Amino acid sequence: MSRYFQAGFECCRFTGSRLKNSALGVGFGALLHGEHKMRITRKVFTDLAIWMALFGLVIGAIFPFFMRALGVPVELVMTPWFFLACLSAGAVVGAANQALARVVVGSRLELLAERMDFVAANLRGVALFDRSTCEVEDCRVADDSDDQIGASARAFNSLVHALAESYHTEHAVQNFSDLMVSHIELGALTEEALKHLMADSGAAGGALLLAEEGELRVHARQGMREDAAFVRSDQLHRAMNEGGICLINIPEGLMVDGVVVEFRPLEVFIVPIPYKDVSLAAVVLASATPFPEGARARLEIFRRALSLALRNAIAHDDLRRLAAMDPLTGIYNRRFGLQRLKDEFSRAVRAGSALAVLMLDLDHFKVVNDTYGHLTGDRVLMKLTHLARSLLREGDVLLRYGGEEFLVILPGASSHDAALMAERLRHAVEDASITYGEQSFHITVSIGAASYPEVNIDNQEALVQIADTRLYQAKENGRNRVVAN
Ligand code: GH3
Ligand code: MG
Ligand code: MG
Repeated sequence: MSRYFQAGFECCRFTGSRLKNSALGVGFGALLHGEHKMRITRKVFTDLAIWMALFGLVIGAIFPFFMRALGVPVELVMTPWFFLACLSAGAVVGAANQALARVVVGSRLELLAERMDFVAANLRGVALFDRSTCEVEDCRVADDSDDQIGASARAFNSLVHALAESYHTEHAVQNFSDLMVSHIELGALTEEALKHLMADSGAAGGALLLAEEGELRVHARQGMREDAAFVRSDQLHRAMNEGGICLINIPEGLMVDGVVVEFRPLEVFIVPIPYKDVSLAAVVLASATPFPEGARARLEIFRRALSLALRNAIAHDDLRRLAAMDPLTGIYNRRFGLQRLKDEFSRAVRAGSALAVLMLDLDHFKVVNDTYGHLTGDRVLMKLTHLARSLLREGDVLLRYGGEEFLVILPGASSHDAALMAERLRHAVEDASITYGEQSFHITVSIGAASYPEVNIDNQEALVQIADTRLYQAKENGRNRVVAN
């Protein structure tokens, strides 16, 4: 990863061209202000006719003097009739030139204008939806003349191209904005945003990373391998610190170590997603071919929309997590935990798999509070949470059911598995010592366990009810024990 990311690394902010100062800008400005020399009327061919007629008359007027200089006798050239004949000839040549210009140039210009009208009409119909149609016949005028007419045709074609690009950008931005407002869930948003950015830039591999608790975490990935080195890459962090979009070119001949994409990349974009002067995320896009024209400019627009949408999704995620968590222990609260249990029970019924629950209640907890104080009691609850978390597998769920009562959901666990886990928990609590100033003390827990389908119930509440009854039996039988059947 590191070697190829170092190749051709270039970070820059997109500033756009300064039309005002460019040669093109000056020429365009002059055109706009109509600074045309030799202009008499508003019609080019009328101007041309006037100039031709004047030129013909001038030539006709000086022609007799020219003949005289060549030695033709005065009495032949310096006569009113000869002057009149020369002026008439000059006027006829002028008129003929003008007619020729109308036929040769005028007809070409007419054709060009007709073609431009035709293209303009086509553009209105198609450009907004499909840029590719604008590269074909219907969206171009013929560029078959090596003069100003050809130059006009080329300028028109490039205008059409720019217009099609701008329509395309507007359309893509509109689509992306719609996509951004339609997703508030962080997972779906990151997946969809990455898919869209890859499609727009033609990237074959990509990842979306979020900055969380001081490190970058991959939230969406396509065509890229999972690689820890990638998220630690200097280039990625540098780009995020600088905030600008970076394009990395990887020369053809360069040997690449530790490539994280599933193909040989030629160009890689790193797109930091800024929010209030810091980068809250980054999108990495890799392509085996050069990125298309305008890709960077569109990414520049997309990242602003993505920034806002990500911020909203993160806030939504935080709120949802807060609403689901018990503030003291940081585990699911009863409401969300029971919703999880409901989901797990439905899944177990559908899949015909086992599902066990353990109901835990600390023994004589009131005494702990009365003896050591409420704050120490709180520490005991946190300690129990910590112990249980360290013993449970991924996929098991721990929730705070009530004051000092906890529920453990064990998907896939038989009553035997549940009893084993319950015993392990009971032992861990019994062995743990709680410090109180200079001294320490021990606590114990009673546990009731129940496992579906070994107990014949048809909803998750009944399963909890059985575990609760068994917990009561454990208390009755002397506490610090497990009742699993
Ligand atoms: P038993 O063995 O029968 O369960 O006896 P117990 O003393 O634990 O009885 P019980 O379960 O009825 O007591 C619950 C006690 O837990 C009472 C209450 O003060 C305490 N408690 C509930 N929530 C909290 C809490 O958030 N922090 C602290 N420190 N104590 C709590
Ligand atoms: Mg209790
Ligand atoms: Mg208790």
